[in-house]
Amino acid sequence: MTNTDKARNSAPGIRVPERPALAVPPRPRLHLLGSRFALMPSLWAWPLVLSVLLVAGVMVWLQAKEGADREAQRADMISDALSLEAQITNRLDEETNKLRALADVIQSRPLSQDAFARHALVLDGLRRFWVSVTWLGDDGRIMAHVPDDAMPAHDAARNIGDEVGMAGHLSVSLAGHEEHLGGMLVARYSAGALLRQKVPWWLASKYDIRLVDESDEVIAATVDGPRHPAQAWYRVSMTPSLPNAWLELASRERITPWWRTMPMALMGGFVVLLGIASVMLRKQMHSVSRAEEAWRTEAAWRSAMEDSLAVGIRARDMQGRLVYVNKTMADMVGYQPDELIGLMPPMPYWVPHELEQSMSRHLRNMAGKAPREGYESRWQHRDGTEVDVMVFEAPLVDAKGMQIGWMASVLNITERKHMEERERKQMETMAHNARLTMLGEVASTLAHELNQPLSAIASYNAGLLNALGARDDMDPPIMKALQRMGEQAAHAGRIVKRIREFLTRREPRREPCSIMGVIESGVSLLKRDLSRHDVRVHIQGDAHLPDVVADPVLIEQVVVNLVRNASDALSTQAGERHIHVSAAQAGRFVRVSVADNGPGLQGVRGDRLFAPFYSTKADGMGMGLAICRSIIELHYGVLDAEEAPERGAVFSFSLPIDVADPGADPADPADSTEEDA
Ligand code: ADP
Repeated sequence: MTNTDKARNSAPGIRVPERPALAVPPRPRLHLLGSRFALMPSLWAWPLVLSVLLVAGVMVWLQAKEGADREAQRADMISDALSLEAQITNRLDEETNKLRALADVIQSRPLSQDAFARHALVLDGLRRFWVSVTWLGDDGRIMAHVPDDAMPAHDAARNIGDEVGMAGHLSVSLAGHEEHLGGMLVARYSAGALLRQKVPWWLASKYDIRLVDESDEVIAATVDGPRHPAQAWYRVSMTPSLPNAWLELASRERITPWWRTMPMALMGGFVVLLGIASVMLRKQMHSVSRAEEAWRTEAAWRSAMEDSLAVGIRARDMQGRLVYVNKTMADMVGYQPDELIGLMPPMPYWVPHELEQSMSRHLRNMAGKAPREGYESRWQHRDGTEVDVMVFEAPLVDAKGMQIGWMASVLNITERKHMEERERKQMETMAHNARLTMLGEVASTLAHELNQPLSAIASYNAGLLNALGARDDMDPPIMKALQRMGEQAAHAGRIVKRIREFLTRREPRREPCSIMGVIESGVSLLKRDLSRHDVRVHIQGDAHLPDVVADPVLIEQVVVNLVRNASDALSTQAGERHIHVSAAQAGRFVRVSVADNGPGLQGVRGDRLFAPFYSTKADGMGMGLAICRSIIELHYGVLDAEEAPERGAVFSFSLPIDVADPGADPADPADSTEEDA
C-alpha cells in the first residue's frame, strides 16, 4: 500500500459518497425519468381525467339523491294530503251534524222565521263557519234565510266568499209529518274559510293548498295564482263530503334538478379551471421535456467534448476535495474518474518523494496564490512513470457568483519536456562541435600563418650556419646554439605541419541526404532564437529535389550559421523580419540560398566577410563564415555572399547532387565544381 493509499484510508470521511453540485448529474435516473415520460406522454391529462370521473360520480350521486328526494317528498305529500282531506271531511261531517241538529229542532217544533234567525244553533253556525242558512220548504219556497241581505253577517260572508273563492253547501233534508211539511236546510259556507281554519300553519308553509273542481277551477286556495309547473303536486278526491272537488297539495319546497345544484356549479367551475390548468400543464410539460431533451443533448455534448479534450480538467471544492475530473485528466494519471472524485490531498498521483512540496503547492493554490500564468508540476502515473504537467488554476464560481472551489486545466507537457531536453542536448553537441571546428580552423589558420615564418627562420638559420661554418674563428658554443635553434625551428615546423596534416586530413562523411531535411532540422534548432527575435522563416524547395552528397551534420552547421547570422542582422532593425531559405537544382548542384530583409552587407566584399576573425558584432569571433566556406569547399561547392535585390543579404552555397539518385544527372560530382556545371 502506498503512502497516499494509507493516508486516504486512514483519513476519516475522505471517500465522500455524496456527489457535489458540480459532479455530472446522475444520468441513469434521468434516463429512467425520460422513459417514464415517454411511456406516459399524457401524464398532464391525468388530473383532468380523474376530476372528470369524480364529477361524473358526483353527478350520478346527485341524480340518485334527487330521485330519492322526490320520492320522499311525494310520500310526505300523499300522507299530508290524505290527513288534510280527513280533517276537512271530519269538519264538514261535524257541520252537517250541527245542521242536522238544527233540522231536528225545526222538526220537533215549528219555528217562526224570526225564531229561526235567532236560534242559538243558527247564530253559532253563522259565527263559526256558515255564511248563510236557508230553510227551504218542501215546495222549494224559502221559509227563512239567515242572514238576510240587510244583515252585516251577510256582507262579511260575501266578502269571505269573494276573497277566497266559491262557496260550498251543506244540506240536510227535513222529514215531513202531519204538522210540518218536509223541506231542507241548506248552509252555505266559505270554502276559503274552511281551508284557512283546517290547514295548520306548518302545512300551509309547506304546500300551496287548493280545492279544485273537475274542470280545474279553483274553489279555494291558500295562495293566489296558478300552480307553478315545476311544483310537485298531489290531488285527493273530496267526494263524497265535497262532491266533484279535489284537494290539491303543491309542494312549495322545490327540489332543484341535480344539474342546477351548487355542488354541480362548483364542480363545473372546478372542471373548467382544471381544464385550463391541464392545458397550461401540458404546455409546461412540453417545454420541460423539451428543456430536458436539450439539457440531455447538451450534457452528452459536454461530456463528449470534455472526454475528447486534450486538456485535463479538474475541479476542487474550497477544502481541496476533488469534485470533478474529466477523462483526459484521469487518463493522465492512470485512474478512473470515479476513483479520483471525492479524494482529498495527498492525492494518489503525487510523486511520493515530493509529497511535502506538493502539499505546500496545494496549500498555496487553495489560498488563491497560484500563478496566473500557470505553473509546472510533476505527477506520478499509476504505473509509476512520471508525468510533467502545466496547471492553470482559476476560481470556480456558482450561478450566484459565489466562489465554490477551484477549476484547473492541466496540460500534459511530458513529451514537450522530453523534446526540449533532446533539443538542448543537440544544441549542446552542436555548440561543442562548432567550438571544435572553430578550434580546428583557428589552429589550421595559425599553422598556416606560422609555417611561413618558421620556414624562414629555418632557412635563415641554415644560411647563417653555412656562412659561419666556413670561418675558423667561430666559437663552437655559438655554432652549437645556432644549430639547436635550427633544430628547434625545424621541430616547430614539423609540429605545425603535423597539425595542419591532422586538421586537413579529416574528410567529411559524405553520404546521400535530403537537403530539405537538413535545412528543416537546422532551422528547427534555432526555433527559440528566431521566435525571440520575432523573425519569420520561410522554407521553400523544389518538389523533386535530388539528394545531395554531403555530411548532413556539417551542412546543418552551415545552415545554422547562415540563418543565425541573418537573424542577428535582422535583430538590429525594426519592422517585419523575414528569412527565406530556398533550395533549387542548378545543373549538377543544388543551390541553397539564405536571404534576409536586414541591413545587407553594406559594401563589404565576400573575401573580407569570409576571412577568419572578421566580425562586426561586439561578441563575434568572426570565424563562422570562414568555417562555412571551408565546409562547403570540402564538399566541392562554393559559398557566396551578395546584396539582396531589394534589401538585405543573400548567402548561398552549392552542393553536388547524388548521381545514384534516379532523378539526378549521372555526372561525377567529385570531378566538377559548381563553376563547371
Ligand atoms: P560572427 O558571426 O562571429 O561575427 P561570421 O563569420 O559568422 O562571424 O560573420 C562575419 C560578419 O559577416 C558578421 O560580423 C557580419 O558583420 C557579417 N554578416 C554575416 N551575415 C550577415 C548578414 N546576413 N547580413 C549582414 N551582415 C552579415
